[in-house]
Amino acid sequence: MKKLLEVKNLKFKTEKGKEILKNVNLDVIKGEIHVILGPNGAGKSTLANLIAGASGYEEPTEGEIIFDGITLNGKPIYERARLGLTIAFQEPAKFEGITVEEYLKLSARNNPQANIEDCLKKVGLEPCEYLNRYVDESLSGGERKRIELASIMCMKPKLAVLDEIDSGIDFVSIDEIGNLFKTMRNEGTTLLVITHRENIANIADRASLMCDGIIVETGDPRQIIKKFEKECLACSVQNPEIYQEIKLKNQ
Ligand code: ADP
Ligand code: MG
Repeated sequence: MKKLLEVKNLKFKTEKGKEILKNVNLDVIKGEIHVILGPNGAGKSTLANLIAGASGYEEPTEGEIIFDGITLNGKPIYERARLGLTIAFQEPAKFEGITVEEYLKLSARNNPQANIEDCLKKVGLEPCEYLNRYVDESLSGGERKRIELASIMCMKPKLAVLDEIDSGIDFVSIDEIGNLFKTMRNEGTTLLVITHRENIANIADRASLMCDGIIVETGDPRQIIKKFEKECLACSVQNPEIYQEIKLKNQ
């Protein structure tokens, strides 16, 4: 089993010294759908931004990120993209003056086999209705997220990090998202799917639970969901002492 991504002892502090990632260790195996599950504020987006090298997140405070054998620390987002690593941000991008067709063609420029119309259909959008639309405010947040997924399908990266792609998107069912992820995986893209919804973890090959800046556990998705329901959901709502216990255990 080849490790496509290795995150080692990753720490991240803001400029003001706030510790957001305390010590993250994570392996993503080539060919898997790996879900990171965790409550709001756990540090999931910060981890996603550090993996992708988003602006301001190119260099962690401590630790190392290795992708396909190459250390990513310090590399800008476009260099990571060139290596085959793509991110769909929690807030989908808008591009004034660019049509869906132009956007998808740009995404497909290094993948001559890509079929733009086919990618749109796979995310549930009718090509004739969308190709000439602009990737701006005239599209709903859910439509932009679908278009972003289509763009990733056109690109066919080695690894796609999808940050809360399920929130705000009007998926008909969990099966629809699951099938979409499986299609992407079968076409050769390893997926790191970030979510705070436990049912999304059901479609994973492996899952990791993230809490308060740490990956608490990685393993079978069903076990991770159970732990999330028992400890994480409980802690933030009515069980602060269990939360404290997990925190102490991981310090
Ligand atoms: P998640 O995606 O799991 O909801 P985030 O990574 O977005 O979590 O945020 C984790 C915590 O760090 C939150 O408490 C958030 O408010 C805080 N945070 C994130 N970015 C910054 C920043 N640039 N400055 C200060 N606090 C931040
Ligand atoms: Mg987030």
